[in-house]
Amino acid sequence: MTSRTDKPISPGETSGPGEIQINVDRLWNDLLALSEIGRGERGVSRVAFSPADMEGRRWLLRRFEDAGIPARMDAYGNVFGRLQGARRDEAPRGEDEIILIGSHIDTVPEGGMFDGALGVLAGLECLRALRERGEALPYTVDVVAFSNEEGSRLGPGTFGSRALLEGISEAEWSRVCPVLKEAGLSAKDLEQPGPSLRPSAIRAYLELHIEQGGVLDASGEDIGVVQGIVCIQSFRAVFMGEPNHAGTTPMDCRKDALLGASELILAVPSVVREAGSERTVGTCGQIKVSPGGRNIIPGLSEISIEVRDLHEDVVSRVAHSLRRRATEIASSRGLKVELTPVSMTPGAIMSPEIQDIIEREARALGLSTRRMPSGAGHDAMIFGKKVPSGMIFVPSRGGISHSPCEWTSKEQCGKGAEVLFRTLIALASTRDSLSRPR
Ligand SMILES: [Zn+2]
Repeated sequence: MTSRTDKPISPGETSGPGEIQINVDRLWNDLLALSEIGRGERGVSRVAFSPADMEGRRWLLRRFEDAGIPARMDAYGNVFGRLQGARRDEAPRGEDEIILIGSHIDTVPEGGMFDGALGVLAGLECLRALRERGEALPYTVDVVAFSNEEGSRLGPGTFGSRALLEGISEAEWSRVCPVLKEAGLSAKDLEQPGPSLRPSAIRAYLELHIEQGGVLDASGEDIGVVQGIVCIQSFRAVFMGEPNHAGTTPMDCRKDALLGASELILAVPSVVREAGSERTVGTCGQIKVSPGGRNIIPGLSEISIEVRDLHEDVVSRVAHSLRRRATEIASSRGLKVELTPVSMTPGAIMSPEIQDIIEREARALGLSTRRMPSGAGHDAMIFGKKVPSGMIFVPSRGGISHSPCEWTSKEQCGKGAEVLFRTLIALASTRDSLSRPR
């Protein structure tokens, strides 16, 4: 075990700019070892609070402890490892003291070995590398494996991070509590969680994650600097026409609701291009036709539409254009149309200062970078609303995830973890305050 002093460190102080400071072999071995827990014929299944998930959490506690890092699991299944900081300035105690590195180790059923696990194990590796340098950072560093990020068994996911930062509603708690008890989580501490982490105590939140899309893999770039997690607006469009005999109704006398819906589906890409940003996406994923007979002109057709972008105002602009387009289509076909909002999931913008640091540290290592949004939700979405947050992506081969085929090479995982490490040190080496989310 290495002894520690409270000498603060700065990037590049003990090694050259392009040198890898973390232990990539050790990180890779941890990824392999964790992937054996819950491994079945098809992929890795550590669905939240299942026996395999709990075994993974206990394994993680031991990995922290083996490295001499104090660790604990809270009543909600979140696992924490902590490296105490040695802060010597005049800031009030309890304020701006912690840098948090987080992700999750629960998986979807038959998932891969990188989604979530990479971020947590890279965090663990950062703490080990810091200990071995024998130098304390001026900030305490917590590495957290949040529980139930995926929400595949108990929706809506990001449970652990929400429990800490936002609290859990009574309705959700009544569903989750029995599952937690069944998983053996300490019953006496089980209370409906009110927020227990004060955002002002956290200097920054960092998360390394596989991209889960194919942008970096296709471009050959090493590191994605995440600009934010997109917000998602979904709505339902219902076209109403007239059901009628498919044989006796001439083509020019029809009010075919499915044709209206089809025209809107085809219009979505152009509306997204015209009214959205270059990164906006729009999708129709569901369609219902009524009465649904082979020989009946459809009288009613319902489609789902969802629009995603980093910025809520862009999403609203696209939604507004889609509404106008739907009305035009309906009136040109003698139909009626109703557009009903179904849900609006807010996203989160990542701290611009942390984006700059990630980019700078990656480039100092000779890595190529790309600024990009995250189209999938992450724990960083919960933190990004209240705490300056940064997210680092590494490529997913073929853009595949939530699948046993999920793959990121050892070298790519190592690059991401090294960028995480250097970002952590850069954030800890300055007293500059980061602008906080509004
Ligand atoms: Zn994930």
